[in-house]
This record gives sequence, C-alpha cells and structure tokens, in this order.
Amino acid sequence: PVICAEDGKAKGVEALVRWQHPQMGLVRPDLFIPIAEESKLIVPLTNYIFEKALKDFANMKVESGFRVAFNVAPEHFTQDDIESKFIHLRDSLDRIGVKPLIEITERQLLTPDICQRIESLRQLGILVAIDDFGTGYSSLAYLRNFEVNTLKIDRSFLIDIATNTADQAIVSSIIELARNLKLNVVAEGIETVEQLEQVFSRGCYIIQGYYFAKPMCVDDFERYLETDNKIVSIDH
Ligand code: MN
Repeated sequence: PVICAEDGKAKGVEALVRWQHPQMGLVRPDLFIPIAEESKLIVPLTNYIFEKALKDFANMKVESGFRVAFNVAPEHFTQDDIESKFIHLRDSLDRIGVKPLIEITERQLLTPDICQRIESLRQLGILVAIDDFGTGYSSLAYLRNFEVNTLKIDRSFLIDIATNTADQAIVSSIIELARNLKLNVVAEGIETVEQLEQVFSRGCYIIQGYYFAKPMCVDDFERYLETDNKIVSIDH
C-alpha cells in the first residue's frame, strides 16, 4: 500500500511479485528479478503482473484516482506492442477509477530512444515515477530530459534519517526538488514513527513501508482497505 500520512488512507499500491517455489519455498524478489532481467524473462513476467493486477482490481472498490504502480524494466519499452498494451491497461483500470503508474529505476541506462517511448506513454495518460531516486548517477539528467510525475526517495536515505544529518540534508533536498518541479514525492521503507516524522515535517506525506502496511496479498489488501487504515496525528 501507498499511504497518505495526512489521513492514513491508501491512495494506491505498488504491485510486487513473490515466487512460491515448490522446493525452495518463498524466493525473495532481489534474488530472482535480476535473473529474470538477465534471462530476458522480465518482459513476460511484467506482462503477467499487468494481467494479474487487472484481474485483482476488477472488482475492487477504491477511491477515484487510486494508483496501481508497476516496476517496469527499460527493456520493456523496446517492445513493438508497448503502446497498445498500455492503452489496454489504462482503459481497463480506468473503468474502476484506477490510474496506472510505471516506476522506472536508474539502475540501467535509459537510452534516448527509451526515454522517447516513455514520454509517448506519459502522453497517453500513464503516470511515470523515478524509483530509488538518488541512487542512480543520472537522476538529475533524467529530470531535465523527460517529464515524470513522481520521485520515490530511495529507502537507503531513510533507514537512519532519524539520526543521520547527511541523510536529513539529502532528503530535504529531494523533497524541495520535487516541490520546485511540481512532482509528487514518495518516501519508501518507512518503518518507525521517527522516520515518518522526519519526512512528514519536511513536506513528504505519501508513504510506503512497514509503519503503515507490509506488502500483502490482494485478499488481505481488500480487507485492509475496509478496516485497517491507520489514523496518525502528526503536527504539520
Ligand atoms: Mn518500485
């Protein structure tokens, strides 16, 4: 869940994948996603996640404007049928008031051609976020070269933010950068009230992390929407 800390309500989700292996048990995504990327299976895996999300959300009751975020590898944008795939995704989610958002990391280089294809998707109404913001060497160049809607502050800056003044300065700068560029900013990996207060007091109100909610299967999420929204009281 992606939570607005002002009212404690889920404003969206990030679609995550886990692998329940018959012999190895639950395989962590940081172990199998890099292999999927190397072996060219990441594109069919991502397409599977799109379809799964469409099924999962087909009967979900969410507020209008609710966002479903997908992690999409750069390689995905070189597929010929990408625009029709995303139009299908956009229109199917639009029927239930949900907007798709694609999260792009800076781990791999985005070529000008890929940037152009992402921009054409953005013009089709697909929201775009830069994931793990601040960890790629080209973060700022991306912001100049193509338009995005959201920055997701990498969790590595947030782990020790309650005590680390360098992290505090970096996070302040990212939040201010987002504000100046009129972008949304999301803090990931928030687990404690101290971490929450650090980002909230700096003007970042959209939160992901265990403090509000752990990753959960879709049935649990439906129950979560009905019951578990956590009310917080933090002074602005
Ligand atoms: Mn992500």
